[in-house]
Amino acid sequence: MLHDLIIIGAGPAGLTAGIYARTRKLSTLIIEATTAGGQLASLYPEKSIENWPGYVSTDAGHLSSNLIDHARTMGCEIREHERASGLDDKNDHLVVHTDKGSYEAKAVILATGMGLFKPKKIGAIGEDKFEGKGVYYKMPEMEYLVGKEVIFVGGGNSACEMALLACEKCDACIVHRREAFRADEVIVERVHNADIETMMNSQVVEIKGTDHVESVVLKQDGKLIERKADAVVVNIGTSNVADDMSKWGLELEEGLIKVDTDMCTSRRGVFACGDAVAYKGKYKQIVVACGEAAIASNSAYKFIKEPYWAK
Ligand code: NAP
Repeated sequence: MLHDLIIIGAGPAGLTAGIYARTRKLSTLIIEATTAGGQLASLYPEKSIENWPGYVSTDAGHLSSNLIDHARTMGCEIREHERASGLDDKNDHLVVHTDKGSYEAKAVILATGMGLFKPKKIGAIGEDKFEGKGVYYKMPEMEYLVGKEVIFVGGGNSACEMALLACEKCDACIVHRREAFRADEVIVERVHNADIETMMNSQVVEIKGTDHVESVVLKQDGKLIERKADAVVVNIGTSNVADDMSKWGLELEEGLIKVDTDMCTSRRGVFACGDAVAYKGKYKQIVVACGEAAIASNSAYKFIKEPYWAK
């Protein structure tokens, strides 16, 4: 069967691209390596989101399930637990290969998000030894945190939001290497108003323990300080796994897919949107990913249908 459009990735960008494609009646298949919803659903669904326009506050789980329902109701077919592995040209069409088969389409949108990105490590002594035994790179279960002393490393939105989520269950301390946070001002204000300790100009240089994390050694203004800690949650950004994106045969920029303002990639009939793409001014926000998805979908429609108004 020849689909009009195949979208790879069912996070906010992929689902939004699907919703827009269906308003144009494009037959649309969305392929997702894990479960639909993307990072919103998988990282911490209970996280509140306060910059999704029209909702003063919603939460990640709600937003992602609404997006999934919306895409399905519009007529997108979503195949979960199927990993796309490559893309070939066949006559005028594209063939998407997955671990379960091959599918043909007139156009493809890549919305693979962070894809095979891995969390950055702080490089502290003991960090590797205690990974999974007190050192985490995503939010641990809330029950695990109850009553514990937890160090959150990082100064961006992710570290601050995780500390805010956890601070009612545990003793939370944010350790950031600079004098000021990088996170949005409203989030920083909330951190300062919450029961969260902040240690600025500080870095975790060693993580100690026997079977599990028991303490951390911090370097603050050149001085070493050891303090008790039951867990260290690291949120200092991500780096991409080399070659993950190269399988698509596209021009890349620092490991991400290079797109123009129409969300066209370097390959005919292939468009991209969301966290997988790079361009000047890129701002990693859900609303931006969804905006890019609308553009990618419109560009795919123009490519497939060649409407009179796009000539
Ligand atoms: P981020 O904004 O890149 O922040 C990473 C933080 O880690 C920075 O403060 C950085 O310090 C620090 N850091 C980096 N390397 C370090 C190291 N080796 N040792 C110690 N600290 C280190 O990452 P993020 O917080 O994951 O956010 C990623 C993107 O997603 C951002 O654009 C963010 O706005 C967005 N996001 C948005 C929301 C929201 O809108 N609610 C929520 C989460 C994420 P420096 O500041 O010194 O470089």
